Amino acid sequence: MSLDDFDRYPLLFGPSPVHPLDRLTQHLGGPQIWAKREDCNSGLAYGGNKTRKLEYIVPDALASGADTLVSIGGYQSNHTRQVAAVAAQLGLKARLVQEKWVDWPDAVNDKVGNILLSRIMGATVQLDAAGFDIGIRDSWEQALEDVRAAGGTPYGIPAGASEHRLGGLGFANWAGEVEQQEAQLGVFFDTIVVCTVTGSTHAGMIAGFAQQDRPRRVIGIDASATLEKTRAQVGRIARHTADLIGLGRDLRDDEITVLEGWAGDLYGVPVQSTIDAIRLTGELEGMIIDPVYEGKSMAGLIDLVRQGDIPADSTVLYAHLGGQPALNAYSGIF
Ligand SMILES: *Cc1c(COP(=O)(O)O)cnc(C)c1O
Repeated sequence: MSLDDFDRYPLLFGPSPVHPLDRLTQHLGGPQIWAKREDCNSGLAYGGNKTRKLEYIVPDALASGADTLVSIGGYQSNHTRQVAAVAAQLGLKARLVQEKWVDWPDAVNDKVGNILLSRIMGATVQLDAAGFDIGIRDSWEQALEDVRAAGGTPYGIPAGASEHRLGGLGFANWAGEVEQQEAQLGVFFDTIVVCTVTGSTHAGMIAGFAQQDRPRRVIGIDASATLEKTRAQVGRIARHTADLIGLGRDLRDDEITVLEGWAGDLYGVPVQSTIDAIRLTGELEGMIIDPVYEGKSMAGLIDLVRQGDIPADSTVLYAHLGGQPALNAYSGIF
């Protein structure tokens, strides 16, 4: 088996853009820093990393004969917004369980940003008081059951599309896309920095890059302060995805790197370094990042460069995974 043996339903504009961040590079005075932009990878409700994962899940959903995509996330889940967009485009229904993953004191947290977009796209949105967890949830099982009881045919997509057997393929494909763009641009990214929470973005990259000749570091930045769980989940999904695409060897432990230090204490709650990273990136590059995910991974990148963990002769690719709509629920910070 190889990645090409899996059906892919195109949802993206094409390869996502790759470009240098010159002013950030100059400001930090170390390695060359570039970005690859999943935040503008698709015309479906602003796109994002989940849209790329869904390219490999949609064929399975369509083959199952489902009429309703069922998924789960926090109130400001980017993932459920992308499921709603894909359902709209396919002419399917979407049923979304939105849990109170974040205790954030913003009066419009359950009204603006991602959840607003999901409502506009016709999804059925169900608010639930349960807290943060990256595992499989009862409320989700219940939503599947409710669809069946109403005579529908559900297709379940777990949180972040990660605990799905095909969840890692989208970013295994991303690794191949990077290799092609490197050839076109005449660069080599020896270091990739990516935010990791439910794990299949980072895991897919690990599996995909392991198939290439040149070694590179794929640094996952924990954004949920659940380091051991996340590391285990990334390792498991990376090994499973490597099997699927026929890597033909075991992944080594040193290929699975999740670093902590920038998540603060809780998923969804930004800390000072998050806010500083958001402002710096906005002021220097006009590039917008969010307080839940990318603000934390960018804070990690900045510190790793300043501390010399990423050496000055490196060329770094920052994976911008999207997520800006959530900013609307965090206006008080700015
Ligand atoms: C979901 C998400 C992530 C984390 O990706 P996982 O595959 O869940 O680890 C990072 N950034 C944004 C904007 C996301 O929506």
